[in-house]
Amino acid sequence: MTAGTSIGTVRCPFCQHPDSRVVDSRATDDGTAIRRRRQCPECGRRFSTAETASLTVLKRSGVLEPFSRAKVVAGVRKACQGRPVSEDQLALLAQQVEESVRAAGRAEVDAHDVGVTVLTPLRALDEVAYLRYASVYQAFESLDDFERAIARLRSEDAAPAAGRADQREATAAE
Ligand SMILES: [Zn+2]
Repeated sequence: MTAGTSIGTVRCPFCQHPDSRVVDSRATDDGTAIRRRRQCPECGRRFSTAETASLTVLKRSGVLEPFSRAKVVAGVRKACQGRPVSEDQLALLAQQVEESVRAAGRAEVDAHDVGVTVLTPLRALDEVAYLRYASVYQAFESLDDFERAIARLRSEDAAPAAGRADQREATAAE
């Protein structure tokens, strides 16, 4: 696994050598931390660390900033204006988004990918808010884009298990 510079140096607890080599890493079950098995290149001894995984978001402007659930909530809240969506539901959605993004195991993600990750849980929460949000993150350019998205919502709602036979144009965009 190559997480590059996001892995800090960790001093060997046995001989105090200033750095150690990562021999194994895996995310904890909830995805918020990484457990690493390390080996000291100096004395050869092994030890474990549990490190809170840093997650950085690369914005379109090129700026890097730490992942923030509050920012996810702020973006989704705008799309939910006037909709029956509670603050608790927004908080839960942001948590789901963070877990999905972290599950991918990368230390840095595109802001656009975070936006796309929002779509699935938001759709389950409120379809109008979903369409508003999708229009931004999937860059809808015309009414046709809305029509296609609505048609897709309708066909999947009406016949979730009916296969894709009657989705003639929905698939064209994918
Ligand atoms: Zn050592």
